[in-house]
Amino acid sequence: MIFEVDEDRCFGCAACVALCPVDALVLEGLLAIVDEPECTHCEHCIPACPVHALSLVNVKGTASIGVLA
Ligand code: SF4
Ligand code: SF4
Repeated sequence: MIFEVDEDRCFGCAACVALCPVDALVLEGLLAIVDEPECTHCEHCIPACPVHALSLVNVKGTASIGVLA
């Protein structure tokens, strides 16, 4: 699994940034950026996003979601 921020949805409200217990999220302009190696995939921030820009994506195989290049 990898944690992803949907750049098209995020509008930089910073709600997720404040919630992350390991400070894996930072705001760059109006976009939340995740430091993926730091992210523990705790999912704590995911429900806080008002536009559902945060998700954990399964990268095992390529069939399910198709995000992995
Ligand atoms: S899933 Fe947890 S560790 Fe990862 S960015 Fe969100 S709050 Fe931080
Ligand atoms: S809570 Fe959602 S919209 Fe707000 S900064 Fe985080 S990812 Fe972007």
